Amino acid sequence: MAHIIREAMSDTHDLDPANIPDQYRYQNVYGRGTVHCGACFHSWSSYISWITVDLKKCRLARRFQQKCQSCETANTPYFKTEELERMIKLTIARVISLMNGTYDNTGTDDLNDTQLDAPHDSDRCEKCEYGEGRPCYE
Ligand SMILES: [Zn+2]
Ligand SMILES: [Zn+2]
Repeated sequence: MAHIIREAMSDTHDLDPANIPDQYRYQNVYGRGTVHCGACFHSWSSYISWITVDLKKCRLARRFQQKCQSCETANTPYFKTEELERMIKLTIARVISLMNGTYDNTGTDDLNDTQLDAPHDSDRCEKCEYGEGRPCYE
């Protein structure tokens, strides 16, 4: 994980983690995650699976859980390496635009329509506070 983040920073942007301001240190980003329920072995994937990246320590600070449709147990999603790389690159591009003042939140990390062909299950998404909070994709 750390090497994915470090390489994305240094190869593409010549960015040093030490130069990232504290207020931008933790970034949430979503991508396609797969969840295997440890209780009933049901598995599923969701295009809106959230992680929090700690850009100073170059690690995943958090993976938001999703509840199983079959048994309602909360489980942690997993990501393929290529998908994580894509998510990390989006995150770093966002932080660079935040740092240089060009950030536009209608930009590249917005949901693309084709990814929303299945409705998001807010009641089972930790980032949506299990249906109690604001929908995470808004
Ligand atoms: Zn289950
Ligand atoms: Zn959600």
